[in-house]
Amino acid sequence: MTAEFFPQEIIRKKRDGETLSREEIEFFVRGITDGTVSEGQISAFAMAVFFQDMTMDERVCLTKAMVHSGSVMEWKSADLGRPVVDKHSTGGVGDKVSLMLAPIIAACGGAVPMISGRGLGHTGGTLDKLDSVTGYNTAPDPDLLTKVVKNIGCAIIGQTSDLAPADKRFYAIRDVTATVESISLITASILSKKLAAGLDALVMDVKFGTGAFKQKPDEAEELARSIVSVANGAGVPTTALLTDMNEVLGATAGNAIEVRETIDFLMGKHIDQRLNTVVIALCAEMLVLAGLADETSAPLAVKGALASGTAAEKFAQMIAALGGPRDLMTNPDKHLELAPVQRDVIAPKRGYIASMDTRQMGVAVMDLGGGRHIASDPIDYGVGLANIKGLGAKTGPRNPVARIIARTEEQADRAEKRILSAIEIAEEAPSQTPVVTKRVTGGDL
Ligand code: URA
Repeated sequence: MTAEFFPQEIIRKKRDGETLSREEIEFFVRGITDGTVSEGQISAFAMAVFFQDMTMDERVCLTKAMVHSGSVMEWKSADLGRPVVDKHSTGGVGDKVSLMLAPIIAACGGAVPMISGRGLGHTGGTLDKLDSVTGYNTAPDPDLLTKVVKNIGCAIIGQTSDLAPADKRFYAIRDVTATVESISLITASILSKKLAAGLDALVMDVKFGTGAFKQKPDEAEELARSIVSVANGAGVPTTALLTDMNEVLGATAGNAIEVRETIDFLMGKHIDQRLNTVVIALCAEMLVLAGLADETSAPLAVKGALASGTAAEKFAQMIAALGGPRDLMTNPDKHLELAPVQRDVIAPKRGYIASMDTRQMGVAVMDLGGGRHIASDPIDYGVGLANIKGLGAKTGPRNPVARIIARTEEQADRAEKRILSAIEIAEEAPSQTPVVTKRVTGGDL
């Protein structure tokens, strides 16, 4: 430990509401990474930041120090000939956007080395969804990753242990000390992992509503502004879209079932309109930021990649290049097993779905075995919900609210109860709400 600073003095300074210098923040993050700052000191620091907050400059310093706590991917020497761009979502229920977006951007000339996470609690994780595909390798060695990104344009993989290791230790301590909710700390945590992927541009999908991490739109907007400001301050052009999570995104929630919906979407067989709107908006935003299109041509390029089948082809190529089956798109039944107990959920009243506790829909999937209570829990990839109806959909004997896919009748009973208590039925259909409500750019700040 260098003698110039003491962790307790840095904690005291933050506790008293003062602004930390870049050197102090870098010193503290080095201590988190190499273990010279104790768990008690890290939790005290997190609590001090929770109450006193950080300026944007402090957040930029914290984020950069956490990015550089491990290795940072470097794409220049790979000579990709494409801008490197990515998207990150704050998490929701039925959010399979990444699975569609990476191949669409690859089809439109971008490179997407997407580092994804596993689901925890009521939200699903892209990595778990891909783990439901037999043979798909979410942890390729660096040479294979570079080859796939160079030849195909996209690879969705898991976080490696040398990427932002400071966040790993810091997050685990925040998780058990009631300090996760600090916007400064969330910003640094999310961005440290994303920026370590060596991006040229980043688009954030910040969700609000009953299924989101930040339920209120103004809180989601505060987080979006913080992330956009800090990422731009760290030198990565970034914008954010605020999107609605007051209902499940798309028609499915689970793992194998969401990959099936992705395949149907990419092949034009079944396209949920709200999901389509979110996918097109986020992809268009990425193409503009990466300099691959302008605001008028970007949505057209995205729709073209879908209509021509090139995005579907990219998805198939990515799956095969990372060890998955070559015939996944044409033979999903063979590779994406679904659990045997399938039951339609019928609401006891005729009417329209007026509101949904989307978090409870995610908890229903978790309780079926499709999600985790704690990080080490195993997952049942074959369970979930299909044909999920959104707000304004009709209910009654001929209009099921969703189809449960369960391993046992008992699990299906519990899921049915939870789903029925998660929705409110009204005689009149509620007015429709937009799914993308706001765009936050660096220029707005
Ligand atoms: N996701 C992260 O990666 N970090 C946070 O702090 C919160 C959500």
